[in-house]
Amino acid sequence: IVWDDFVQHCVDSNLYGAENLSYIPGEVGASAVQNIGAYGVEVKDLIVKVEALDTFTSGMVTFTADECRYGYRDSLFKRPDLAGRYIITAVHYRLWHTPRYTLDYGPLKELREVTYLTPATVRNRVIEIRRSKLPEPSELGSAGSFFKNPVIDKSMWRHIQSSYPEAPHYDVDDNLVKVPAGWLIETSGLKGAVEGGAMVYQRQCLVIVNTGNATSDDVVKLYRRVQATVYNRFRIMLSPEVNVI
Ligand SMILES: Cc1cc2nc3c(=O)[nH]c(=O)nc-3n(C[C@H](O)[C@H](O)[C@H](O)COP(=O)(O)OP(=O)(O)OC[C@H]3O[C@@H](n4cnc5c(N)ncnc54)[C@H](O)[C@@H]3O)c2cc1C
Repeated sequence: IVWDDFVQHCVDSNLYGAENLSYIPGEVGASAVQNIGAYGVEVKDLIVKVEALDTFTSGMVTFTADECRYGYRDSLFKRPDLAGRYIITAVHYRLWHTPRYTLDYGPLKELREVTYLTPATVRNRVIEIRRSKLPEPSELGSAGSFFKNPVIDKSMWRHIQSSYPEAPHYDVDDNLVKVPAGWLIETSGLKGAVEGGAMVYQRQCLVIVNTGNATSDDVVKLYRRVQATVYNRFRIMLSPEVNVI
């Protein structure tokens, strides 16, 4: 099942919870592996349990959300010793019949002012934002966000803020701050940087696109250059969100 068809189904059924995750490419099974997330929501917030075929025992197993060990774009299923062992066959999600919006992220904040807000309104806005920032997969190849948004401690954040008072950030808790990797990359002067056919996407520096004939070497060269350049400027080592095979 295509993930976004599932989100559309939830929205059509007036169920709340999945609308911020609209238009993320991929399938439902992968959502539970990757712990997909966008605009302040992670799919782990919705998952109740995951059913899978254990290829070691050929038996079916069920994992509760806790047992899936979800973290930022991470899960039990990505552990190197378990990778490929479980084939997810069903994911159980819990959604809400009553309004339960997450509108804390930048461009979604304006929706707080809408009087009769529906999940469909949020979905449409999310799709609009994503289309304006991210390359359309059918037109320009990419792996989506290439790097994770780094979470740093507050003292390091204050140091950055002293040079860049306008730097975007999100408080994770009293001690930790999440900084958009796209901002770090753009501020390091890498917008449009090119290695062979691979390019840092001009409209969203978090994305590396294939301009037509990128080889895997081009992509690896470019992402390492991004890591080194950002590290030299901010002393933050970006880690890839994509799985490098
Ligand atoms: C333009 C673009 C935008 C994106 N935006 C976002 C975003 O906003 N947020 C986000 O989180 N991600 C985003 N992504 C990344 C991507 O959409 C997600 O990682 C998605 O979950 C990938 O789905 P897939 O079906 O293509 O899985 P794949 O990439 O094929 O697989 C991902 C991993 O899951 C495993 N897997 C897949 N299906 C199963 C299964 N049934 N059982 C067991 N293992 C399985 C694979 O082996 C692999 O390890 C974006 C990607 C693109 C191209």
